[in-house]
Amino acid sequence: MPNARINLKKELENAVSENMLKVIYLCSEAADSFPVSVFLIGGAVRDVIIGKNHFDTDITVQGDALEFACFLEKKYPDICKIKEIHDKFGTAKLVFSINNQQIDIDVAGTRKETYPYPGSLPKVEEIGCELYEDVKRRDFSINSMALSINKNDFADLTDYLGGYDDIKNKKIRVLHPSSFIEDPTRIIRALKFRVRFDYELEESTKILQNKCLDSGMFDNFCGERIKSELKQAFNLNRPEIMEIFLQENIYKLVNKDINIPESVQNLAENCEKTALEYLKFLKPDFIWLIYLGVLLTDFSQEKIADIAYNLYLSGIETEILTGAAILSEKAEEIEQASSNYEIYQSFEGFLPEAILILLIKTPQLKEKINLHLKKFKKIKIYTTGQNLIDLGLKPGPLFGEILGKLLKAKINGEFSSKEEEKKFLAAQMHH
Ligand code: ATP
Repeated sequence: MPNARINLKKELENAVSENMLKVIYLCSEAADSFPVSVFLIGGAVRDVIIGKNHFDTDITVQGDALEFACFLEKKYPDICKIKEIHDKFGTAKLVFSINNQQIDIDVAGTRKETYPYPGSLPKVEEIGCELYEDVKRRDFSINSMALSINKNDFADLTDYLGGYDDIKNKKIRVLHPSSFIEDPTRIIRALKFRVRFDYELEESTKILQNKCLDSGMFDNFCGERIKSELKQAFNLNRPEIMEIFLQENIYKLVNKDINIPESVQNLAENCEKTALEYLKFLKPDFIWLIYLGVLLTDFSQEKIADIAYNLYLSGIETEILTGAAILSEKAEEIEQASSNYEIYQSFEGFLPEAILILLIKTPQLKEKINLHLKKFKKIKIYTTGQNLIDLGLKPGPLFGEILGKLLKAKINGEFSSKEEEKKFLAAQMHH
């Protein structure tokens, strides 16, 4: 049964920006003149209750969302445009221009879903169903609430599944016993919310998580969604994510052969520290690969390529993971590198993220890695191919050789200024 009436108008006004609030009121007016019941739903409601500003505004219409989206566009022709329509799910993305700001909202119809088999994508059974059916298909109680935006009950909370109390008690609770089996990506979503909000898994949810991970029933799961959730969780750059990921066997969703390192806490903290220290060398969107990469360095390149394939990683993401494994294999050799150029050559061609994974695994290489990333990698020679042509040389393999020699000499500190480089080149030509 829903809770006694809870109205969150004040909380809503505090949580969203002024322009977003305007959009919500515009939708409210449209909902009443359409007329149809319209709600703010899911994570947006959770964040209103927590008091955190939410930027993805999901709106659910108890009926046909596409008709409502067209109605909004017609009612506010100067400020509202439909950006995308997804016929299959009956959803639309709209953009409002308010005070020169673009505000996006997602509009969906209430829908009932089922899972044809564990790990599959859900099948839409009905669009425009009762609100209860729509919230029941969601992941956790904290994400299953709706906030009316119709005028007569504006900001009244509908909480069929106890989400409000779970937020107050800081609990993550699934909505039915087969939730994780249906969609194991929810295990990683739970991990993200636990760490982000400092919540705990509710007792029976914890048991269901263990059962799902022990069952190994996730061969059919969609790697692309696992990747998306892993990325969001590990990109928080919080060591607790890795600790729980390993200690609670969640890693099995990626690969069951991952070895749990001796000191999980140390390794996780090291990942966080390294990502922060070298932030400017990293793409922020790749932080998660540092955490994943340190767990895979002992695997063969084929095995890593397999994992990358299953997770739908891009070419560059795969290159980070395989690069880290190649570097780890060469770690002893790199320790022996003595000249600047030898150090440069050891790392040349590897992405910074791969090099940082090596650093976490082999801290004694820190000095060499710093030299490479902070100094050698930035060294450029002034001479170009055109300069060599101007000196009377014919383009060919010799060009690469000469330019390579120049770079080597410059990295080894044999010259630094443009003038000195010219002299060095002249001497080379002489030979
Ligand atoms: P975040 O703040 O990280 O964006 P969110 O809860 O808003 O979190 P979304 O991924 O945008 O996350 O999902 C929106 C809503 O859709 C969720 O709040 C939840 O109700 C529902 N949802 C998302 N993923 C799932 C899932 N795997 N299973 C069931 N419901 C889901």
